[in-house]
Amino acid sequence: MTDAGFTPVDIHAPAGGLDARAALRARGLRATEARVLLLDAIRDLDHPTVEALHLATRDRGIALTTVYRTLETLERAGLVWAVHVPGTGRTYHLGTHAPHAHLLCRECGRLEDLEPIPEDALADRGVPDDFEVEHVQLTVIGRCADCRTRGYSANRPA
Ligand SMILES: [Zn+2]
Ligand SMILES: [Zn+2]
Repeated sequence: MTDAGFTPVDIHAPAGGLDARAALRARGLRATEARVLLLDAIRDLDHPTVEALHLATRDRGIALTTVYRTLETLERAGLVWAVHVPGTGRTYHLGTHAPHAHLLCRECGRLEDLEPIPEDALADRGVPDDFEVEHVQLTVIGRCADCRTRGYSANRPA
């Protein structure tokens, strides 16, 4: 992960990515099953929505209300952050991901990460030096090359 000058939560394990239990402990949170399962699912899935996270954890007995409540706790602790994507809703990232913009095809719904946004670029746009940036939400919306080749379809997402 490129460090663009932000200080994302350092919760990387030495190998194999996030150690959910260590990350929770570092934030003074108990490593409940729901918290560990959701952190693992957010690490493993590509921009999961609440529905995708519910699907990934419900066979372990995690109720939808628990998913919502746990995501709130993880978000407040800075362990995850959410991006609102038009037509898709909130999608989740680990707190270790540097703030980045997204590219969204409004026809097929494909969502891709763009390079992290450098701090200089924010300062150039008037973000004060003493403002602690936690994340940046910018979604570039349009039509991907595949969809442009196919032409407009009648059943694109709203
Ligand atoms: Zn597309
Ligand atoms: Zn992303």
